[in-house]
Amino acid sequence: EKFKQGLSKTRDSFSGKVNDLVARYRTVDEDFFEELEEILITADVGVNTVMDLIDELKFEVKRRNIKETYEVKEVISEKLVDIYYGDDNEEVEELTFNEDGLTVFLVVGVNGVGKTTTIGKLAHRLKEQGKNVVLAAGDTFRAGAIEQLEIWGERVGVPVIKHSEGSDPAAVVYDGIQSAKSKGADVLICDTAGRLQNKVNLMNELSKVNKVIEREIPDAPHESLLVLDSTTGQNALSQAKIFSEATNLSGIVLTKLDGTAKGGIVMAIRKELDIPVKFVGLGEKVTDLQAFDAHAFVYGLFA
Ligand code: GDP
Repeated sequence: EKFKQGLSKTRDSFSGKVNDLVARYRTVDEDFFEELEEILITADVGVNTVMDLIDELKFEVKRRNIKETYEVKEVISEKLVDIYYGDDNEEVEELTFNEDGLTVFLVVGVNGVGKTTTIGKLAHRLKEQGKNVVLAAGDTFRAGAIEQLEIWGERVGVPVIKHSEGSDPAAVVYDGIQSAKSKGADVLICDTAGRLQNKVNLMNELSKVNKVIEREIPDAPHESLLVLDSTTGQNALSQAKIFSEATNLSGIVLTKLDGTAKGGIVMAIRKELDIPVKFVGLGEKVTDLQAFDAHAFVYGLFA
């Protein structure tokens, strides 16, 4: 249901166009596939993924001896789910936790993508699951970032460990770990600065933060989540490429899916980066963070 609501813009646009196409063509031919390809590309599914999908559809049409376009429509959902998961096990772990002590999550992403909001939502979600959460205000670069995180901390009811603006993020994270440990907290979520202008700076900063985390807690961070704004389309993909070169990413959080008609970006990200989409943001409220599920997603596109 959440996906259904959150995806209404994409659904109205995408499945509206597919329905229109099916009504206009009725019988399957090459032109039908060409128009379908256009629709998928416009929805930001990603060129390579679209090519794969069209190939698979053509193959199925032949194999099942499908003649009518409405039947192809049914195969689209099926194939989208297949393509999303690829050869992977469908049971992607929602989040990895430390079984023996403090769990540390690192959250990275460019300013404005919804990083702070996502941290707030995630903290709320974990609290609901009965976990004690602490936040570390590791974005010491952007003016206002620390205060913004504190507002979320208050809203959700979790402590925020901070230093002053301009201070060393690795030192903030170090303090965050000590404080979380002394409080007996379960999870520490670390914010980080999202400046992409200088890749070397970004890499150095993230690698320093990572070193501190690894030194304090072996096998940490347990998740390194990249937050991407789905409304930025192919830009999100290029951000992801840069971040994945700067640090080891374990998952993606795709925000603002409710604000775009191009929800197909989920497919493109999964296929072109080979990093699982773990959560999607479907609104501005604290409860608007949904664990990603390709079945529910594709259902939401057509429902
Ligand atoms: P940051 O600079 O990356 O920390 O971004 P913020 O967390 O401040 O978010 C930027 C804006 O995007 C804010 O107005 C948020 O309310 C909004 N936002 C974040 N996530 C979502 C989402 O999933 N859906 C919608 N509609 N808005 C969101």
